[in-house]
Amino acid sequence: MSEINKFIGHYISGKHYVDNGEKIDIFNPCNNELIGILSSATDKTVKKAVDEAEKAFKSWKNIPVSKRVSILFNYKNLLEKNIDGIAKLISSDLGKVDEDAKAEIRRGIENVEYACGLGETIKGEYNKNISTSIDSWSEFEPLGVVLGITPFNFPAMVPLWMFPLAIAAGNTFILKPSEKDPLSTLLLAELFTKAGLPDGVLNVVNGDKSSVEYLLNDSRIKAVSFVGSTPVAKEIYNMASKNRVRCQALGGAKNHALILPDANIEDSTKQIIGAAFGSSGQRCMALSVAVVVGEIKDNFIKELVKQTKKLKVGLDINDSNSFGPLITKEHLEKVKYFIDLSEEEGAKILTDGRDILKSKNSVKGNYLGATIIDEVKTSMTAYKNEIFGPVLQIIHVNNFIEGLEIIKNNNFGNGCAIFTGNGEAARTFTSEVDIGMIGVNIPLPVPSAFHSFGGWKDSFFGDLNIYGPDGLRFYTQRKTITQRWPSSNNQNSKINFSMPTNN
Ligand code: NAD
Repeated sequence: MSEINKFIGHYISGKHYVDNGEKIDIFNPCNNELIGILSSATDKTVKKAVDEAEKAFKSWKNIPVSKRVSILFNYKNLLEKNIDGIAKLISSDLGKVDEDAKAEIRRGIENVEYACGLGETIKGEYNKNISTSIDSWSEFEPLGVVLGITPFNFPAMVPLWMFPLAIAAGNTFILKPSEKDPLSTLLLAELFTKAGLPDGVLNVVNGDKSSVEYLLNDSRIKAVSFVGSTPVAKEIYNMASKNRVRCQALGGAKNHALILPDANIEDSTKQIIGAAFGSSGQRCMALSVAVVVGEIKDNFIKELVKQTKKLKVGLDINDSNSFGPLITKEHLEKVKYFIDLSEEEGAKILTDGRDILKSKNSVKGNYLGATIIDEVKTSMTAYKNEIFGPVLQIIHVNNFIEGLEIIKNNNFGNGCAIFTGNGEAARTFTSEVDIGMIGVNIPLPVPSAFHSFGGWKDSFFGDLNIYGPDGLRFYTQRKTITQRWPSSNNQNSKINFSMPTNN
């Protein structure tokens, strides 16, 4: 390990910065070799980041929108040019296969493109002659210093959901990435500086929850975007609300697919396999439960098992494997525990990902194969929890209504899908289900950058969803101006505006 790569620090005011905070080891999940040591931000470093962001806000908010956006155009080009390098870092500390890593960067770049159109979206609202000779308009002003806290599973895409839009709108930003895989996020920040972003507009502080606590208690932070697990999302939302900080907190998930008897078996199994096991199931939109209705059951399961057995779990991230390892040894143990428990509670294992652990090559990495668990009941422990691994649970029901009720009774509400050839059933499903993002014959209904992303129930705490039109509203505050210019030959000059009468 070279000295340069040894200590992973922070990116503050356009420079890499290492302090002497608590050390966290960063491992390659493919072999558990040490690839770096993260030096967590001390309170002094966190304060320095907020100081710099606050200072930069004073000038950044007044830079014309066309100039701000031109830097974003440069940034988009630089991200595209550096996609291989960013993907390599994602593969090294998260273990994503190359194709998956590049796909997440491309989805992230779509959000930079959306932010490039800010001149159009931030125009505001105007009403001439709202009353005689009186004009009124609303402007959308930046908030100030905004904080983003991101999870390990999308170290490029999720930060790109946040900071390009916030910064384009005139805010300055502090990003606190996951302490498990900080490498690619630091490169994202460095590239923004190369694109022309002034120092202090985007700052990255690394560390765990102690850095977050310090940041949330700094009254200069005006808003926080959080993406991570539900218990932490709830905690952050409560803490932010107590401090009167605007907050959107996106949490965990348990996403169901309802498969009706008229579904196309070949297509639906292919879609469900990709959505359940891609990225080792470490996706908040992963399809983790298939609710199968009636007589399709035998053919569906036969095809699902046949196709799943063809998946290759990556020991070498550079070849054409389907998915890589889990993020840490502890996480692997947790997922295995849920599989063991499912068996003990009476479910049936159709494909057993634990078999891979018997293979010699996989011993060092956090690998688990694709696991299908059949005959799952909603009372089982593994059903009630988010597993976040390559595990698909199957529940059998007699009819559409029974399936719909199962989905509605689940506490999470991030995403779901229906597979059917029946338009009426699909329409009823999308109307009745209480979930934020729904796919019809689409397994991962992640909204494009032109819409906004967010779940319902225990998957989301806040009012405005992340990115897209809601994202822009979240990162701005409305100012409404009502204006009158009295003149001697204008009737309006004689009007008395004192409350309560306007006559
Ligand atoms: P996590 O909640 O453990 O951590 C997320 C972030 O919060 C990290 O930066 C972490 O350092 C910080 N953190 C952890 N504990 C904290 C605490 N007590 N106080 C303050 N900050 C704290 O999540 P994770 O394991 O990194 O990511 C996986 C989870 O994220 C899954 O539950 C997944 O469903 C969810 N997720 C949700 C979405 C979504 O859009 N809804 C997207 C991606 C991931």
